[in-house]
Amino acid sequence: MAGTVSSTKTPPWSLCTEPAVFHDKRTGRHLCRDHFISDVESRVAETIRGRRLIVPGDHVVIALSGGKDSTALLMILARLLPALEGVTLSAFTIDEGIHGYREDTIRSADELVKKYRLTHTMISFPDLFGGTLDVFLEGREPEACSICGILRRKALNVGAERAGATKLATGHNLDDEAQSVFMNVLRGDLPRLLRDSGSDSQGRFIPRIKPLMFISEKEIAVYLMLHGAWADLPECPYAVHALRGEVRRMLAVLESKHPGTMLHLMESRAQIEAHCDGSLVAEPMRHCAECGDPCSGEICQLCNLKKTL
Ligand SMILES: [Zn+2]
Ligand SMILES: [Zn+2]
Repeated sequence: MAGTVSSTKTPPWSLCTEPAVFHDKRTGRHLCRDHFISDVESRVAETIRGRRLIVPGDHVVIALSGGKDSTALLMILARLLPALEGVTLSAFTIDEGIHGYREDTIRSADELVKKYRLTHTMISFPDLFGGTLDVFLEGREPEACSICGILRRKALNVGAERAGATKLATGHNLDDEAQSVFMNVLRGDLPRLLRDSGSDSQGRFIPRIKPLMFISEKEIAVYLMLHGAWADLPECPYAVHALRGEVRRMLAVLESKHPGTMLHLMESRAQIEAHCDGSLVAEPMRHCAECGDPCSGEICQLCNLKKTL
């Protein structure tokens, strides 16, 4: 699996005479509406097949924020579902309690699951942690993404467990993945670089899958627009504080000047992964002294964080 990132075969549809809706700078392809949609869907199908992300009998629960990525993920998985033997799909939404941001995305998540008739559950930070993210972050805005990340990780695991799922699907796209690779390099965190590849959960949690990991943010936007599902939803108000924001802008410029940059970052991770024996990633299997959750230290990050909230 590692090392196989994408293929750039000469596509038979480059001769199509329909008006193009998308120009892929990296491959030079101009795609019409139908060919663009089937190209995106078949690349997701290929990622699922090639990496064995979903196997017959799986119950896949989507972490549906109601934003662009998870909306596209749900639409594409629902389209591919008939070809996936005996696979059940459901969704859950985490309400972190971010005023002026979450209300719209939750409404949009709700409409989507109704349309696709999926089982949908809600999980809120107040239920799980006794307060909203807004309250926890007062005066700690610069730490927003790391605090939210720790709380969300727990919420994601609880959501997947409550749903009785065998796989937890998130909407991470190519841009997100390339940013993560770059950020982990900037931080000098090679173990995390490899853990983020998605192949690792060491059987401790319900495995996470990222079926859109090779689909760019731009492609997701076009896919949604072509389905009339585009909505200009607000950005998370805390994102401005994150290193990710800077990396995101930098990579967008690089990708535009040098198409393929993001895929090359993914390729770098795959190559490092292929040459590692696993000792970098493997952590001693321990349990948190306070909550019992699997963790690498004495006390898990969540229990440590809770003391400061
Ligand atoms: Zn065409
Ligand atoms: Zn703990």
